[in-house]
Amino acid sequence: MSALDFIRDDVKAMSAYYVADLPKDFIKLDSMESPYHPFTCSSELLNQWTALLAQTNIHLYPNPAASGLQEALREAFEIPQAAAVALGNGSDELIQFITLLLAKPGATMLAVEPSFVMYKQNAALFGMNYVGVPLNDDFTLDLPAVLAAMETYNPALTFIAYPNNPTGVRFTREEIEALIRASKGIVVVDEAYGTFSDDSFLPQVGSTDNLVVMRTVSKIGFAGIRIGYAAGSAAVMNELAKILPPYNMNQLSLATVKFALQHFEVIHDNILKLKAERERIFAELSTISRLKAFPSEANFITVCVPDAAELFETLKRNKILIKKLHGSHPLLDQCIRLTIGLPEQNDAILNIIRKLYA
Ligand SMILES: *Cc1c(COP(=O)(O)O)cnc(C)c1O
Repeated sequence: MSALDFIRDDVKAMSAYYVADLPKDFIKLDSMESPYHPFTCSSELLNQWTALLAQTNIHLYPNPAASGLQEALREAFEIPQAAAVALGNGSDELIQFITLLLAKPGATMLAVEPSFVMYKQNAALFGMNYVGVPLNDDFTLDLPAVLAAMETYNPALTFIAYPNNPTGVRFTREEIEALIRASKGIVVVDEAYGTFSDDSFLPQVGSTDNLVVMRTVSKIGFAGIRIGYAAGSAAVMNELAKILPPYNMNQLSLATVKFALQHFEVIHDNILKLKAERERIFAELSTISRLKAFPSEANFITVCVPDAAELFETLKRNKILIKKLHGSHPLLDQCIRLTIGLPEQNDAILNIIRKLYA
Protein backbone atom coordinates (compact mmCIF):
# COMPACT_ATOMS: atom_id res chain seq x y z
CA MET A 1 0.00 0.00 0.00
CA SER A 2 1.21 3.50 -0.75
CA ALA A 3 0.50 6.61 1.28
CA LEU A 4 -1.85 7.80 -1.47
CA ASP A 5 -4.07 4.76 -0.96
CA PHE A 6 -5.03 6.16 2.45
CA ILE A 7 -6.39 9.37 0.98
CA ARG A 8 -10.18 9.59 0.67
CA ASP A 9 -11.41 8.26 -2.66
CA ASP A 10 -14.06 10.99 -2.92
CA VAL A 11 -11.34 13.65 -2.63
CA LYS A 12 -9.16 11.89 -5.19
CA ALA A 13 -12.13 11.95 -7.57
CA MET A 14 -12.57 15.72 -7.16
CA SER A 15 -10.94 18.29 -9.41
CA ALA A 16 -9.16 21.26 -7.82
CA TYR A 17 -10.87 24.69 -7.80
CA TYR A 18 -9.54 26.27 -10.96
CA VAL A 19 -7.61 29.49 -10.43
CA ALA A 20 -6.48 31.13 -13.64
CA ASP A 21 -2.79 31.89 -13.91
CA LEU A 22 -2.57 34.71 -16.41
CA PRO A 23 0.08 36.68 -18.24
CA LYS A 24 0.47 40.16 -16.71
CA ASP A 25 -1.07 42.04 -19.61
CA PHE A 26 -4.41 40.21 -19.37
CA ILE A 27 -7.54 41.98 -18.14
CA LYS A 28 -8.91 39.67 -15.47
CA LEU A 29 -12.68 39.94 -15.13
CA ASP A 30 -13.52 36.38 -14.15
CA SER A 31 -13.68 36.38 -10.37
CA MET A 32 -15.32 39.54 -9.01
CA GLU A 33 -12.16 41.21 -7.84
CA SER A 34 -12.33 44.99 -7.56
CA PRO A 35 -10.27 46.79 -10.22
CA TYR A 36 -9.34 49.37 -7.58
CA HIS A 37 -6.56 48.97 -5.03
CA PRO A 38 -8.27 50.75 -2.14
CA PHE A 39 -5.31 52.82 -0.96
CA THR A 40 -3.44 53.86 -4.11
CA CYS A 41 -5.83 56.75 -4.81
CA SER A 42 -3.83 58.96 -2.46
CA SER A 43 -0.16 58.75 -1.56
CA GLU A 44 -1.02 59.92 1.96
CA LEU A 45 -3.42 57.04 2.48
CA LEU A 46 -0.94 54.59 0.99
CA ASN A 47 1.81 55.86 3.29
CA GLN A 48 -0.40 55.64 6.37
CA TRP A 49 -1.32 52.08 5.52
CA THR A 50 2.23 50.93 4.86
CA ALA A 51 3.38 52.63 8.09
CA LEU A 52 0.66 50.74 9.93
CA LEU A 53 1.77 47.43 8.42
CA ALA A 54 5.36 48.23 9.41
CA GLN A 55 4.26 48.61 13.06
CA THR A 56 2.26 45.39 13.11
CA ASN A 57 3.48 42.77 15.57
CA ILE A 58 3.92 39.97 13.11
CA HIS A 59 6.09 38.08 15.62
CA LEU A 60 3.04 37.64 17.87
CA TYR A 61 0.00 35.44 17.35
CA PRO A 62 -3.09 37.40 16.39
CA ASN A 63 -5.93 37.74 18.85
CA PRO A 64 -8.90 38.21 16.52
CA ALA A 65 -11.34 38.60 19.42
CA ALA A 66 -9.34 41.47 20.90
CA SER A 67 -8.42 43.01 17.55
CA GLY A 68 -11.30 45.47 17.66
CA LEU A 69 -12.34 44.43 14.18
CA GLN A 70 -15.67 42.96 15.26
CA GLU A 71 -16.61 46.26 16.91
CA ALA A 72 -15.46 48.22 13.86
CA LEU A 73 -17.54 45.99 11.56
CA ARG A 74 -20.50 46.29 13.89
CA GLU A 75 -20.33 50.06 13.72
CA ALA A 76 -19.64 50.33 9.99
CA PHE A 77 -22.39 47.95 8.92
CA GLU A 78 -24.92 48.53 11.72
CA ILE A 79 -24.84 45.00 13.08
CA PRO A 80 -27.26 44.84 16.04
CA GLN A 81 -25.88 44.51 19.56
CA ALA A 82 -27.89 41.30 20.00
CA ALA A 83 -25.70 39.59 17.39
CA ALA A 84 -22.21 38.17 17.71
CA VAL A 85 -19.62 38.34 14.92
CA ALA A 86 -17.23 35.58 13.83
CA LEU A 87 -14.22 36.25 11.62
CA GLY A 88 -13.01 33.88 8.93
CA ASN A 89 -10.00 33.67 6.66
CA GLY A 90 -12.27 34.62 3.80
CA SER A 91 -15.93 33.71 3.98
CA ASP A 92 -14.93 30.45 2.27
CA GLU A 93 -13.47 29.41 5.61
CA LEU A 94 -16.70 30.33 7.39
CA ILE A 95 -18.71 28.24 4.91
CA GLN A 96 -16.42 25.35 5.82
CA PHE A 97 -16.73 25.71 9.56
CA ILE A 98 -20.45 26.46 9.60
CA THR A 99 -20.93 23.27 7.59
CA LEU A 100 -18.69 21.33 9.97
CA LEU A 101 -20.70 22.71 12.90
CA LEU A 102 -23.97 21.33 11.53
CA ALA A 103 -22.70 18.10 9.97
CA LYS A 104 -24.33 15.63 12.33
CA PRO A 105 -24.62 12.15 10.79
CA GLY A 106 -27.59 12.15 8.43
CA ALA A 107 -28.01 15.95 8.44
CA THR A 108 -28.98 17.75 5.24
CA MET A 109 -27.79 20.93 3.56
CA LEU A 110 -30.13 22.76 1.21
CA ALA A 111 -29.15 25.29 -1.44
CA VAL A 112 -30.56 26.56 -4.71
CA GLU A 113 -28.95 25.86 -8.08
CA PRO A 114 -27.14 27.40 -9.73
CA SER A 115 -25.48 29.08 -6.78
CA PHE A 116 -22.06 29.30 -5.15
CA VAL A 117 -20.38 25.94 -5.77
CA MET A 118 -18.61 25.79 -2.42
CA TYR A 119 -21.83 25.03 -0.52
CA LYS A 120 -22.32 21.67 -2.20
CA GLN A 121 -18.63 20.88 -2.10
CA ASN A 122 -18.49 21.43 1.66
CA ALA A 123 -21.60 19.31 2.19
CA ALA A 124 -19.80 16.46 0.43
CA LEU A 125 -16.56 17.04 2.30
CA PHE A 126 -18.22 16.97 5.70
CA GLY A 127 -20.59 14.12 4.91
CA MET A 128 -23.86 16.06 4.81
CA ASN A 129 -26.69 15.09 2.52
CA TYR A 130 -27.21 17.76 -0.10
CA VAL A 131 -30.41 18.96 -1.73
CA GLY A 132 -30.16 21.50 -4.58
CA VAL A 133 -33.42 23.14 -5.65
CA PRO A 134 -33.34 24.57 -9.20
CA LEU A 135 -34.08 28.25 -9.72
CA ASN A 136 -36.66 29.43 -12.24
CA ASP A 137 -35.46 30.06 -15.83
CA ASP A 138 -34.99 33.75 -15.09
CA PHE A 139 -32.88 32.89 -12.01
CA THR A 140 -35.59 33.96 -9.60
CA LEU A 141 -36.35 31.75 -6.61
CA ASP A 142 -38.85 28.92 -6.98
CA LEU A 143 -40.22 29.56 -3.50
CA PRO A 144 -42.85 26.79 -3.48
CA ALA A 145 -40.17 24.26 -4.49
CA VAL A 146 -37.76 25.47 -1.81
CA LEU A 147 -40.46 25.40 0.86
CA ALA A 148 -41.50 21.91 -0.24
CA ALA A 149 -37.88 20.71 -0.04
CA MET A 150 -37.59 22.22 3.41
CA GLU A 151 -40.69 20.39 4.53
CA THR A 152 -39.44 17.09 3.08
CA TYR A 153 -35.78 17.18 4.15
CA ASN A 154 -35.81 19.38 7.26
CA PRO A 155 -32.35 20.79 6.42
CA ALA A 156 -29.96 21.54 9.27
CA LEU A 157 -28.34 24.18 7.09
CA THR A 158 -29.56 26.26 4.15
CA PHE A 159 -27.26 28.53 2.15
CA ILE A 160 -28.80 31.38 0.15
CA ALA A 161 -26.55 33.83 -1.66
CA TYR A 162 -28.31 37.22 -1.58
CA PRO A 163 -27.63 38.49 -4.29
CA ASN A 164 -26.91 35.14 -5.89
CA ASN A 165 -23.66 34.12 -7.57
CA PRO A 166 -23.23 33.21 -10.47
CA THR A 167 -26.46 34.90 -11.59
CA GLY A 168 -26.36 38.35 -9.97
CA VAL A 169 -30.08 38.25 -9.28
CA ARG A 170 -31.25 39.18 -5.79
CA PHE A 171 -34.21 37.19 -4.55
CA THR A 172 -36.94 39.15 -2.78
CA ARG A 173 -36.82 39.96 0.91
CA GLU A 174 -40.24 38.36 1.39
CA GLU A 175 -39.00 35.07 -0.09
CA ILE A 176 -35.99 34.92 2.19
CA GLU A 177 -38.14 35.83 5.19
CA ALA A 178 -40.48 32.97 4.28
CA LEU A 179 -37.51 30.57 4.17
CA ILE A 180 -36.22 31.72 7.54
CA ARG A 181 -39.69 31.30 9.04
CA ALA A 182 -40.09 27.83 7.53
CA SER A 183 -36.64 26.55 8.46
CA LYS A 184 -36.01 24.83 11.75
CA GLY A 185 -32.31 24.63 10.89
CA ILE A 186 -29.90 27.50 10.29
CA VAL A 187 -30.31 29.70 7.22
CA VAL A 188 -27.08 31.38 6.14
CA VAL A 189 -27.78 34.44 4.01
CA ASP A 190 -24.50 34.85 2.12
CA GLU A 191 -24.18 38.56 1.38
CA ALA A 192 -20.82 38.41 -0.37
CA TYR A 193 -22.24 41.11 -2.71
CA GLY A 194 -24.24 42.90 -0.02
CA THR A 195 -22.50 46.25 -0.48
CA PHE A 196 -23.52 46.31 -4.16
CA SER A 197 -27.12 45.50 -3.34
CA ASP A 198 -30.18 47.45 -2.19
CA ASP A 199 -31.07 45.18 0.70
CA SER A 200 -29.49 43.28 3.58
CA PHE A 201 -30.44 40.95 6.39
CA LEU A 202 -27.71 42.30 8.69
CA PRO A 203 -30.16 44.50 10.63
CA GLN A 204 -32.08 41.33 11.58
CA VAL A 205 -29.25 39.17 12.88
CA GLY A 206 -29.45 38.27 16.53
CA SER A 207 -33.26 38.33 16.50
CA THR A 208 -33.49 34.58 15.89
CA ASP A 209 -31.08 31.64 16.35
CA ASN A 210 -31.68 30.30 12.86
CA LEU A 211 -30.37 33.30 10.89
CA VAL A 212 -26.68 33.86 10.11
CA VAL A 213 -25.57 36.58 7.69
CA MET A 214 -22.19 36.13 6.08
CA ARG A 215 -20.18 38.83 4.36
CA THR A 216 -16.73 39.35 2.92
CA VAL A 217 -14.45 42.25 2.04
CA SER A 218 -13.12 40.33 -0.97
CA LYS A 219 -15.44 41.89 -3.53
CA ILE A 220 -14.89 45.48 -2.37
CA GLY A 221 -11.15 45.74 -2.87
CA PHE A 222 -9.65 43.22 -0.46
CA ALA A 223 -9.70 39.83 -2.19
CA GLY A 224 -6.00 39.49 -1.39
CA ILE A 225 -6.25 39.76 2.37
CA ARG A 226 -8.82 37.02 3.02
CA ILE A 227 -11.31 38.34 5.55
CA GLY A 228 -14.91 37.29 5.83
CA TYR A 229 -17.32 37.62 8.71
CA ALA A 230 -20.53 36.06 9.91
CA ALA A 231 -23.09 37.57 12.26
CA GLY A 232 -25.68 35.55 14.13
CA SER A 233 -27.16 34.98 17.53
CA ALA A 234 -24.62 34.86 20.35
CA ALA A 235 -25.69 31.29 21.18
CA VAL A 236 -24.92 29.98 17.69
CA MET A 237 -21.78 32.05 17.20
CA ASN A 238 -20.39 30.81 20.53
CA GLU A 239 -20.62 27.25 19.24
CA LEU A 240 -18.94 28.25 15.98
CA ALA A 241 -16.14 29.95 17.92
CA LYS A 242 -15.28 26.62 19.55
CA ILE A 243 -14.29 25.02 16.27
CA LEU A 244 -12.67 27.93 14.41
CA PRO A 245 -8.87 27.66 14.50
CA PRO A 246 -7.76 30.08 17.25
CA TYR A 247 -5.28 31.93 15.05
CA ASN A 248 -7.15 31.79 11.75
CA MET A 249 -6.80 35.51 11.06
CA ASN A 250 -3.50 37.24 10.42
CA GLN A 251 -2.23 40.49 11.90
CA LEU A 252 -1.63 42.21 8.56
CA SER A 253 -5.16 41.55 7.33
CA LEU A 254 -6.78 42.50 10.63
CA ALA A 255 -4.86 45.78 10.67
CA THR A 256 -5.69 46.45 7.02
CA VAL A 257 -9.45 46.06 7.39
CA LYS A 258 -9.57 48.15 10.55
CA PHE A 259 -7.68 50.86 8.68
CA ALA A 260 -10.03 50.50 5.71
CA LEU A 261 -13.09 50.96 7.87
CA GLN A 262 -11.65 54.23 9.18
CA HIS A 263 -11.40 55.39 5.57
CA PHE A 264 -14.55 53.80 4.32
CA GLU A 265 -15.43 56.76 2.06
CA VAL A 266 -12.72 55.65 -0.40
CA ILE A 267 -14.12 52.15 -0.54
CA HIS A 268 -17.66 53.47 -0.76
CA ASP A 269 -16.67 55.68 -3.72
CA ASN A 270 -15.30 52.65 -5.54
CA ILE A 271 -18.49 50.71 -4.85
CA LEU A 272 -20.55 53.58 -6.30
CA LYS A 273 -18.35 53.71 -9.40
CA LEU A 274 -18.74 49.97 -9.96
CA LYS A 275 -22.50 50.13 -9.46
CA ALA A 276 -22.76 52.96 -11.99
CA GLU A 277 -20.68 50.95 -14.45
CA ARG A 278 -22.86 47.90 -13.83
CA GLU A 279 -25.97 49.89 -14.74
CA ARG A 280 -24.29 51.34 -17.82
CA ILE A 281 -23.15 47.93 -19.08
CA PHE A 282 -26.52 46.35 -18.32
CA ALA A 283 -28.30 49.07 -20.31
CA GLU A 284 -25.89 48.61 -23.24
CA LEU A 285 -26.22 44.83 -23.24
CA SER A 286 -29.99 45.09 -23.03
CA THR A 287 -30.11 46.95 -26.36
CA ILE A 288 -28.66 43.91 -28.18
CA SER A 289 -31.57 41.66 -28.97
CA ARG A 290 -29.51 38.48 -29.39
CA LEU A 291 -28.31 38.70 -25.78
CA LYS A 292 -30.10 38.18 -22.52
CA ALA A 293 -28.50 40.10 -19.64
CA PHE A 294 -29.89 39.43 -16.18
CA PRO A 295 -30.49 42.30 -13.75
CA SER A 296 -27.68 42.22 -11.21
CA GLU A 297 -27.24 43.63 -7.72
CA ALA A 298 -23.65 42.38 -7.57
CA ASN A 299 -20.36 43.51 -9.16
CA PHE A 300 -20.85 41.26 -12.15
CA ILE A 301 -23.41 40.67 -14.88
CA THR A 302 -24.50 37.30 -16.17
CA VAL A 303 -25.36 37.21 -19.84
CA CYS A 304 -26.63 34.46 -22.09
CA VAL A 305 -25.25 34.80 -25.60
CA PRO A 306 -25.64 32.92 -28.90
CA ASP A 307 -22.35 31.07 -28.38
CA ALA A 308 -20.60 31.28 -25.00
CA ALA A 309 -17.48 29.43 -26.14
CA GLU A 310 -17.07 31.75 -29.14
CA LEU A 311 -17.33 34.87 -26.95
CA PHE A 312 -15.01 33.43 -24.32
CA GLU A 313 -12.35 32.56 -26.90
CA THR A 314 -12.70 35.87 -28.76
CA LEU A 315 -12.24 37.81 -25.53
CA LYS A 316 -9.30 35.62 -24.60
CA ARG A 317 -7.61 36.33 -27.93
CA ASN A 318 -8.05 39.98 -26.99
CA LYS A 319 -6.41 39.30 -23.63
CA ILE A 320 -9.57 39.51 -21.58
CA LEU A 321 -10.56 36.70 -19.23
CA ILE A 322 -14.19 36.27 -18.21
CA LYS A 323 -16.04 33.32 -16.69
CA LYS A 324 -17.70 30.84 -18.99
CA LEU A 325 -20.66 29.46 -17.04
CA HIS A 326 -21.95 27.30 -19.89
CA GLY A 327 -21.70 23.63 -18.96
CA SER A 328 -21.77 24.14 -15.20
CA HIS A 329 -25.58 23.90 -14.87
CA PRO A 330 -28.42 23.33 -17.37
CA LEU A 331 -29.95 26.74 -16.56
CA LEU A 332 -26.64 28.40 -17.48
CA ASP A 333 -26.72 27.19 -21.07
CA GLN A 334 -24.65 29.61 -23.25
CA CYS A 335 -24.14 31.97 -20.30
CA ILE A 336 -21.05 33.92 -19.33
CA ARG A 337 -20.30 36.13 -16.32
CA LEU A 338 -18.60 39.50 -16.62
CA THR A 339 -17.01 41.05 -13.55
CA ILE A 340 -17.39 44.82 -13.61
CA GLY A 341 -13.99 46.39 -14.19
CA LEU A 342 -12.62 49.84 -14.98
CA PRO A 343 -14.71 51.79 -17.52
CA GLU A 344 -12.10 51.27 -20.24
CA GLN A 345 -11.98 47.52 -19.53
CA ASN A 346 -15.75 47.31 -19.69
CA ASP A 347 -15.69 49.24 -22.96
CA ALA A 348 -13.18 46.79 -24.40
CA ILE A 349 -15.60 43.93 -23.65
CA LEU A 350 -18.63 45.83 -24.94
CA ASN A 351 -16.86 46.61 -28.21
CA ILE A 352 -16.12 42.96 -28.83
CA ILE A 353 -19.64 41.92 -27.87
CA ARG A 354 -21.12 44.54 -30.22
CA LYS A 355 -18.91 43.38 -33.10
CA LEU A 356 -20.04 39.79 -32.59
CA TYR A 357 -23.71 40.21 -31.85
CA ALA A 358 -25.09 43.69 -32.50
C1 LIG B 1 -16.82 35.25 -3.50
C2 LIG B 1 -17.85 34.58 -2.71
C3 LIG B 1 -17.58 34.04 -1.44
C4 LIG B 1 -16.17 33.85 -0.91
O1 LIG B 1 -15.59 35.00 -0.50
P1 LIG B 1 -14.20 35.00 0.25
O2 LIG B 1 -14.47 35.86 1.43
O3 LIG B 1 -13.26 35.61 -0.71
O4 LIG B 1 -13.81 33.61 0.64
C5 LIG B 1 -18.62 33.53 -0.71
N1 LIG B 1 -19.87 33.50 -1.20
C6 LIG B 1 -20.16 33.97 -2.42
C7 LIG B 1 -21.55 33.88 -2.91
C8 LIG B 1 -19.16 34.50 -3.22
O5 LIG B 1 -19.45 34.92 -4.45
